[in-house]
Formats: sequence, C-alpha cells, structure tokens
Amino acid sequence: MSSTMRRYNALNVFWNGLTGNKNWDRAWRDPEPKPKYEVIIVGAGGHGLATAYYLAKNHGITRVAVLEKGWLGGGNSGRNTTIVRSNYMMPGNCAFYEHSLKLWENLSHELNYNVMFSQRAHVSLCFSPGQRDAMARRYNTMRLSGIDGEWWALDKLRKNIPYLNYGEDARYPIIGAFVQPRAGTARHDAVNWGYARTADALGVDIIQQCEVTDFIHENGRVVGVNTNRGEIRAEKVGLAVAGSTSTLAPKAGLGRLPIETHKLQAFVSEPLKPLVDHVIVYGVGHGHFYISQSDKGGLVFGGDLDFYNSYAQKGNLPIYSDVAGCAMNIMPMVGRVKILRQWAGIMDMSMDGSPFICKTDVPGLYLNAGWCYGGFKAIPGSGWCFAHTIAHDDPHDINAPLSLDRYRKGRHIDEGGGGPVPKHH
Ligand SMILES: Cc1cc2nc3c(=O)[nH]c(=O)nc-3n(C[C@H](O)[C@H](O)[C@H](O)COP(=O)(O)OP(=O)(O)OC[C@H]3O[C@@H](n4cnc5c(N)ncnc54)[C@H](O)[C@@H]3O)c2cc1C
Repeated sequence: MSSTMRRYNALNVFWNGLTGNKNWDRAWRDPEPKPKYEVIIVGAGGHGLATAYYLAKNHGITRVAVLEKGWLGGGNSGRNTTIVRSNYMMPGNCAFYEHSLKLWENLSHELNYNVMFSQRAHVSLCFSPGQRDAMARRYNTMRLSGIDGEWWALDKLRKNIPYLNYGEDARYPIIGAFVQPRAGTARHDAVNWGYARTADALGVDIIQQCEVTDFIHENGRVVGVNTNRGEIRAEKVGLAVAGSTSTLAPKAGLGRLPIETHKLQAFVSEPLKPLVDHVIVYGVGHGHFYISQSDKGGLVFGGDLDFYNSYAQKGNLPIYSDVAGCAMNIMPMVGRVKILRQWAGIMDMSMDGSPFICKTDVPGLYLNAGWCYGGFKAIPGSGWCFAHTIAHDDPHDINAPLSLDRYRKGRHIDEGGGGPVPKHH
C-alpha cells in the first residue's frame, strides 16, 4: 500500500472516526491510459480485476491496464446472487472450483478488504429417489476428490431448516438434501472493490469509461486495442467480458465461439428478520430455484435463464412468475412478501456449461469466458489461473482442461449432461 491511510485496520478506522472520516485515500486511482502496457485485460468485472491482481502479486507483472467500458463491477459481477460452492463432479471442473473455494476462504485477509464471505452451507433439496441417486454419485465423487459434501436425511434437514414445506400436500415432497457445508455467499460489490483496490495499489491502471471497439493486429498477432479514448498497445491482451464475448471475439480474430449470450434475472425481497441462514436450492426436473438471505435482510433468489438470446440487462415477467412459483413450492409463507427489486445480467453460456481459461490460436490473445451463470464463485480461481496462463504463455495444470480446443478434440466437460445446448446448462 502506498500510504498508511490506505490500509484498513482497527487503528485507522478509529482514527478516521474521530476526524470525520475525511482522511481516507481514494480506494483506487483514475489514471489516464498510457500508450503501451505489458498486458491489457478487457473488462473490469471480477474476473478481469482478479486477473490483474494475480498478475501483479503472483507474477510481478505490474504494467497492466484493465479497460472497462462502464464502471468496474457494473456487469454480472455486481448483479448476481453470490452463491459460492465447489460441488462439481467432472474432471476439469472439480479441481478448478475447489481451488477457487480455497482462495475464497482467505480472500478478505489477502485483500485487506472484507468480502463478507459467509460459509453458511449450500443445501440441494431432493424430491425423488432417482434424483437422490444421481446426486449421490456427484457427492461421492466429490468426497473421493477431497471436497466436502454430506447427505442430510429428513430428520436432520427438518432440525436444521424447520420452515420448509414438509407437508403431505407439498407439490414436491422433500426427502432429504445434499449439503456442502463450506459453500456459502459473499458480498458481490466488495469482491470487485477489494480486487480493484489491491490491484491498483500494486500499480495496475484501472481505466473506466474506456470501451474497446476493435483490436490492432500486426503480422497475425494482436498488439493492442482501439478504444473510445484512443489506441492502447500491449504485448498481450486478455478478454474477460462475459456476455460481450460473442461480440468482441470475432473482432479479435477468433471467429464465432461456442458461446451464446443469454440473460439471467435475480430478485430481492423487502428486508425480513433473519430466516434463511443457508443457501437453499433445487432443480433437475422440478424447476430451478436458489435462495439465500442478505445481511440487510432481503431474500435474494433466482432461477432459470430467460431462454432466448439477448444483450438487454433486463428480464421478462414469465421468469418472474416461474421463480415466484418455485419459492412458494418450498416456502409458502413468503407468499405475501414484496419484491423490492429485480435485475438481469448477460451470461456467456458455453455449449457444455463449462468455462474457458486459455490462450487462443491468435498470438497475443487470451480468453476468459463461458462462465454461464456460475462465474461469481469462480472469480478468485479464474483470476489466479488466467494470470498464470498469460504470464507463462501456458495454462496451469488446474485450468489446462478448460481450453477452447476441447471441442475440437471431443473432450467436453458436460457437468449437467445437457448436451450441446447452452440454455440447458
Ligand atoms: C442474476 C445473476 C445471478 C447470478 N448468480 C450467480 C451465483 O449465485 N453464483 C455464481 O457463481 N455466479 C452467478 N452468476 C454469474 C456470475 O455473476 C458471472 O459469471 C460473473 O460475474 C462473470 O464475471 P466477469 O468478470 O466474467 O463478467 P462481468 O462482471 O459481466 O464483467 C465484464 C465486464 O466487461 C465489460 N465490457 C464488456 N464489453 C466491453 C468492451 N467492449 N470494452 C470494455 N469493457 C467491456 C462490461 O462492462 C463488464 O463490466 C449470476 C449472474 C447473474 C446475472
């Protein structure tokens, strides 16, 4: 940190409290773009900011610019339901998401910023023996890979979460739940701000209101970008633009990628007294629903995609009503709770539901995309792996399977078993 007032600690909080909180430094600078950097990252969402931070911290690469067309964290990273978990089964996903969860566990200390990571457990409800058997396979595989997971039979579930609809007349009869105790939630804004502040302190330029409009190619290599603030050159350029990947990738020379842009909505209720102290989810043939409660008391919940391609950051009523119906199935007592706000983000849906962290066939160009609606939990792991890939020009073992050429070689990582249909993942 460049100045003693930048570090957050009890003494500084106390001292600033006494002096009217007028002496805090800006959390990050507002620099003008330089003509050239070693690395440019396009997109200041969680993935772009985390990549810049790990480039500086782990690899000593500080001549880095993160270019953002709006404001940092204004994309999906600042508008999601913040579920963090690593209950994946497929080789490739398993090690990657567990690596990310381990980074989450120390993130507030590492960034000197409270990201409000709360390991409140992720509870996946089961409604039928067939569903239970399929999920047992996943949780057994996780345990064999060293990832925590357990089965809560009905009596244990009732004891821990008494308010669910266990009645005879329930639309879906709950028979138990698979639980990942180390999973939970974090504060989305804080994650973006924490990475931004710490990367900035290490010398990274975060340049907001700077839209990348095209790429500069020389001798078949990407050597920079054109922006609404002029040309900026770099030895390496990394894309981390989520739902905008499908528009930027062709300009960068990648052609059409196996990624479609879809939108996903989230909903927040009026504040309630503490009620939901886990993350509760259900899906697989019974709709799709997930809910938690924020520290301000709002129930934060969501469900499926809007099921058609769009770049609009707003959603439509059919999903609103579908998600409200899903909530009523398991928690009928929320029927009179008012929805306070709703929003949508644009998701980079890959064909097998798994992401890409890789270098591309275009020299100098690196890709971070395909997060579908699960990329918030991936932010630390993705930034860590993408930084390694850019710095070494080679993937780390952890992200080696998350390459674009897995489609060419038929090594799909189809976690959901949904086939090559992005909206099924
Ligand atoms: C409603 C909703 C709920 C979700 N819930 C969860 C969840 O519970 N758990 C989970 O793990 N994941 C969840 N996700 C997914 C997760 O939010 C995303 O996968 C993740 O935030 C993607 O991060 P990112 O940094 O790749 O993208 P973003 O945060 O979207 O950042 C991309 C940035 O690129 C910028 N950009 C785009 N084009 C350009 C350009 N031409 N020039 C410069 N900048 C550009 C954008 O402005 C944006 O700021 C959810 C998403 C949504 C929308």
